[in-house]
Parts: sequence; structure tokens; C-alpha cells
Amino acid sequence: MHAAKSEPALPFLPFARPTIDETMVEALADTLRSLWITSGPQVLAFEKALSEYHGGRPVRVFTSATGALEVALFTLGIGAGDEVIMPAQTFFSCANAIARTGARPVFVDVDPVTRNMDLAAARAAITPRTRALVPTHFAGLPLDMDALYALARTHGLRVIEDAALAIGSRWKGQRIGSFGDIACFSFHPNKNMTTIEGGALVFADEAEARRAEQFRFHGIARLPDGTRDVVVVGGKYNLPDVNARLGLLQLARLEEFTARRRQLAARYFDRLRTDPPCELPARGDEGHSWNFFAPLLPLERLAWSRKQIMDALAARGIGTGISYEAVHLTTQYRTLGYGEGDFPHAERIARETLTLPLFPTLQDADVDRVCDTLRAVLHEARQ
Ligand SMILES: *Cc1c(COP(=O)(O)O)cnc(C)c1O
Repeated sequence: MHAAKSEPALPFLPFARPTIDETMVEALADTLRSLWITSGPQVLAFEKALSEYHGGRPVRVFTSATGALEVALFTLGIGAGDEVIMPAQTFFSCANAIARTGARPVFVDVDPVTRNMDLAAARAAITPRTRALVPTHFAGLPLDMDALYALARTHGLRVIEDAALAIGSRWKGQRIGSFGDIACFSFHPNKNMTTIEGGALVFADEAEARRAEQFRFHGIARLPDGTRDVVVVGGKYNLPDVNARLGLLQLARLEEFTARRRQLAARYFDRLRTDPPCELPARGDEGHSWNFFAPLLPLERLAWSRKQIMDALAARGIGTGISYEAVHLTTQYRTLGYGEGDFPHAERIARETLTLPLFPTLQDADVDRVCDTLRAVLHEARQ
């Protein structure tokens, strides 16, 4: 007899993880040592690099995409009495940003395949009070941009694209943000590139970018005599230089990160087989940047809840997330009169969605392990 040898535990796989290399760590240390740590030369350099990445368009960076969305809405003069149309299944910050201006978020259902805002539903929701559309490029899969901008033009609406998940995505070969009205990106650690926290707006119009800059920093305008004036009710959303320095180095690796995300998504499509089967996300084309990979669980054929499945996966070292709950069913947005049954596709996706590990440093063997573990867990969970 010999003593049972225990296998070394496999590392825990979170569903998202930023890629930070030693060059980035050193660069951040350098920026700290420079003692210019809040907004300064690195912010200007990062904005210039983002502008070049987006075909020379004006860019301003912010402390988050949520803050950037608020600033975009203020810049367009949206407020009390206005309506803004957005999908019912996206991250909460869009609804909050709209509501914080005093405007009313108007939810519409999503397409069950792409999980992007249903544009026919958006058209039906337009009223004389509608000012803007705020669609999300869900998981990095671009919305149909031709149809979106045709709708906006016909009704004289502004568009703020929630591209928080979509830096590196392309529509018909063109980068998201390099055309269209206003695009909003996020650099949260779970996104395609990170500045720790951070966000950006890409504009079509330089004058609007300058106005957003005022909303970003106390509403300040500089006067010729060296003093400052306050010309709008601004806030404080300026990105520190430390974060911008990280952003510059992340942007330099973005295409590489995106290529790896696409390979990993392709591997999930090849390997993810369960009984009962999950509903896989829309495949998209090479313009999809695959911020996350989220199948829908076959819950009606399982005896376990999603929470039980997530716990079983976590116990086997697989981290998962929910992207996202239905916004109209949250306590706050039910106060606008929304409830169950209003948006069946959004509600089904919110109920069944499960975000699996996907990030550039994930290995092929990790994807195989996730697929095998999910297969085993769903087998156990069968009715
Ligand atoms: C992450 C995210 C946001 C918010 O980004 P922050 O930078 O964290 O404020 C907004 N919309 C969507 C779709 C997101 O995924």
C-alpha cells in the first residue's frame, strides 16, 4: 500500500481577468515617480492614440464609461421631459446615466439571437419626446449599424453607442467608434483593455468634444486674463495620468488581445457540448471582439437553479458571471411602471445567461476544462 497522492489543485479560473505585463508595471511606477499623477501629458497622449485608432476623430477620456455616458447625455442637452431609448438587457449604468440627467429611460426588448437592441421595437417606442438612442454592442458583437443610423436619421435622433464591451470590434471592416455619432468605451478591468477604471467618448464633432470636456471638469472655461469661469454645471470625471499611461500600453496590445479572444471563442464553439444542450451566443463575424462568451442554460430541462450550477462550477474552480440582469425588473426601474412579461427575450436571457471564463491569457486547455466541467455539472443537474 502506498499513501494516496492528491492531485495538485487546478488554478481557479475567473470569468474575466486583465492582462498586465511587466512593461506596464514599470511604466506606472515611472509615471508615479514623475509626480505628475493626475490628468496631464499621459492623458493627452492617450487621447491622441485613441483618436488615431478611431480614424482621427476627437476623443476625451473619463474616470469610467458610466461617467462618460452621463457627460455625453449632458453634452447633448438631454434632461427632464426627454426620453432616451435603450435595451432592457444591458448593464445598469445606461439606465442610471439617463435617469440622472432627469430624462426617462425607455426600455425595449432585445433580439434573441444577437442580444442587441431590437430596432423594430426601438422604432415603435419613439415618441415626440424621444431625443436619443443608447444601444449596446452586446458582448462585443456590433449592432446593425446601417439599420441603427437609418432609424436615427429618419427620426432626427442622436445616438450614443454603448461600446463599453466593444473596443476592437468592427462593423463591415470599420472600427466601432470610427464612424457614427458618439461612441462610449469602458476600460474597466473586465473589458477588452483596461486603465483600472476609465472610459472614453469618441465624437464626430470637435465642438461637442470641447463641450464634453467642460462637463468633465467642473464646467470650467479658461479666460484670457488667466482666471476661470464656470459655464455649465460640470462634474469631476477626469482620468489620472497613471491610468492613461496604462491605457497607452494596453491600446498597443489591443489587436493581439482581440485576436486571442476570437480564438478562444472559436474553441468554445468547437468544444461546448452538453446534454441537455445550451443555447450558444450568435457567432458574428471577424468584427466581433468577444468581450465575453455567455451561453444560455437549458434551465427548463434541469433540476438545478442557475445559482446551484454556478456554485457547483465554482467548487470545481470555474468562475462565472451574469451578463446581465434585466434592467427593467430592478427595484428602481420597476418604479417607472415596468414588470415581468414586458420584454420576454430580455427576461429569458437574463434568467438563463451564464458568462464563462474568457480573457487573453486563458489557455486552450482551460477552455477544454471549462467545457468538460460544465458538461459534467449539467449532466448531474438533469431532471
Ligand atoms: C462595463 C459596462 C458599462 C460601464 O462601464 P464602467 O467603465 O464600469 O462605468 C456600461 N455598459 C456596459 C454594456 C458595460 O458592460
